[in-house]
Amino acid sequence: MFNLTVDNLDLLSVAIAITAIGILGFLIFFNNRKSITNRTFLYFSLLTIIWGISNYLEYKFSTPFSALWALRVHLFISVFHAFFFFQLCYVFPVEVKRFNFLYKFFVLPLTLITAILTLTPLVFENITELAPIGQVTNPTRGPAIFLFIFVAIGLLLTGLGVLFIKIFKSKDIEKRQTIFVFIGMLLTAFLIVMFNVVLPVTFNDLRFIPYAALFLFPLITFISYTIYKHKLFNIKVAATAILAFFITTFSFINIIFSKELNAVILNITAFTIILIGSIRLIRDMLRLEIANEKLRELDRQKSEFVSFASHQLRSPLTAMKGYASLIVEGDYGPISDDLKSAVSRILESSNTLATVVNDYLNISRIELGTVKYNFKEVDERALVQTVIDELRPTIKTAGLKLSFEVFSNDSYKVLADPDQLKQVITNIIDNSIKYTPQGSVSVSIERKDSKILLSVKDTGIGIAKETIPLLFEKFSRAKGADEVNIRGTGLGLYIAKEIIIAHGGKIWVESEGEGKGSQFYVELNVKA
Ligand code: ADP
Repeated sequence: MFNLTVDNLDLLSVAIAITAIGILGFLIFFNNRKSITNRTFLYFSLLTIIWGISNYLEYKFSTPFSALWALRVHLFISVFHAFFFFQLCYVFPVEVKRFNFLYKFFVLPLTLITAILTLTPLVFENITELAPIGQVTNPTRGPAIFLFIFVAIGLLLTGLGVLFIKIFKSKDIEKRQTIFVFIGMLLTAFLIVMFNVVLPVTFNDLRFIPYAALFLFPLITFISYTIYKHKLFNIKVAATAILAFFITTFSFINIIFSKELNAVILNITAFTIILIGSIRLIRDMLRLEIANEKLRELDRQKSEFVSFASHQLRSPLTAMKGYASLIVEGDYGPISDDLKSAVSRILESSNTLATVVNDYLNISRIELGTVKYNFKEVDERALVQTVIDELRPTIKTAGLKLSFEVFSNDSYKVLADPDQLKQVITNIIDNSIKYTPQGSVSVSIERKDSKILLSVKDTGIGIAKETIPLLFEKFSRAKGADEVNIRGTGLGLYIAKEIIIAHGGKIWVESEGEGKGSQFYVELNVKA
C-alpha cells in the first residue's frame, strides 16, 4: 500500500488543492471569457497554484542561499496572490469594471513596491540556522516584513470588506452567490493569515506552513457549492469537471509515489497530458453548451416569428375566404360559370392556406410552450360522431364508404380539451379519406378497462414500414403522399401527437405496407 509519510502528505494536499482550483478556474473562465470576474478568477486560480507550489518548495532546499531565495520568491508570489484575492472581491460579480483612481494610483503601486521589497534583505535578511529538508527554516526578518504583512493583510481585509458590502447591494441569486463566495474567501483568508503569517511571525510556529494548500478548501468548496446550487453549469459539464479532477489528482499521486527516475518522468508526462486534456475537454464541453444555448434561443425566436407571422396572416385570409364564398354563392348577383369556377379556386386555395397557417400557429405555440389546454369532461364517442357528421360531404365527394362502430354501451367520457381533441380526430379521419383513393374508412371506439381506444382503418395507400417511425415528426410526409394529396404539409400528425401526449394518451399507426391500408389508433384514459 501507499507509504504515507508527512513528507508526501503535504505534497498530496498541494496536488489535490491545485488540481481542484485549476479545474475550477478554467471551468469558470471558459464559461464566459469576456467577463472580468471570470477572467480574474482564472488569474487568481493560477496564482494560487503557483503560490501552492512555491509554498511547498520553500522548505525543500538544503543550502542557506537557495533556502533564502525560495522564501523570498514565495513571499513575492504571496503579495500577488493577496492582490488577486483583492481583485477578485473587487470585480465580483460584474462582467465589465472600471478601475478607480485609488486602485490605479495607490493599490497597484503599493503592491508592486511591496513585491519588489520581498526580494531584498529588507524583508528577509538572512538565514542563520537552516532547518533540515522538510521543515521550514526561520529566517532573520528585516523591517519591511511589517510592510509585507500590512499590505498582504490589508489586501485581504479590503477585499473581504468590499465583498461584504456587495452582499447588501445585490439581490436574489446574486446575493446568495455573493454570500457563498464571501464565506469561502473569508475562511480561506483567515486560515492562511493565521497559520502562514500570524503564527510564524508572532509565535515562531512554522509547523502549519506545509499544509497551507489545505486552507484553500473552504474557498473551493463554497464556490463549487454555489455553482451546483444555482446550476450555473450544465450537469454534464460539472460531471466532466469532477471526473477530470479525480483523474488528474490520481495521476499526480502517481508521481508522488514513483520511486525511480524513469517512473517519475513517465508519470509527469502522463500527468501533463491528462491535465491539458482535461482542460481542453472542459473547454470544448462548455463551448458546445454555449452553442446549444444560442441555438435554443434562435429556435425560440424562430417560433416567435412564425407565431407572429401566422397570426398576422389569419385576418386577411378570413376576409378572402368570406368574400370569395359570398361571390360563389351569388350574394353579389349572378356571375358567369367561368368566373364562378375561378373564384371557387380562390376559395379552395384560401381554405388550404388557412389550414396551413393554422398548423404553423399551432406548431409555434407547441414549441414556445404557450398552448393552453382547457380540460373538461368530454364524451369522446359523441365527439367522434360530430366529426364524422361534419366530414360526410367530403366522404361523399371522395366516393368512399364510412362506418362507425361502437363496441359497447359503456361510458366514453374522457378528460380533454374538446377543441384540441376534435382537431386530432378530424385530422386522422380526414387523412384516411385523403389517402384512400377507393374503398372504405372504418372508425371504431372501444373501451378496455380504464382506456378508450379509437381506431381509424382505411383501405388506402398504406405506409411503408420504414416510414412509420417518422410519420409523427414535423414536416414528415410519406413517399407517395404527394400523388394522392398535393396540399399536405406533414404537420397534422406532429400536432396530433403533441396534443395527445398533453392529454396523457398515446397515438400510433399500423400498416401492412404500401397499398395495404393503414390503421391509426388513439388511446386515452377514461375519466375517473
Ligand atoms: P399531411 O397530411 O398534411 O401531409 P399529416 O401530418 O397529417 O400531414 O400526415 C403526414 C403524412 O402521413 C402524410 O403526408 C402521409 O404521407 C401519411 N399519412 C397520414 N395518414 C395516412 C393514411 N391514412 N394513409 C396513408 N398515409 C397517411
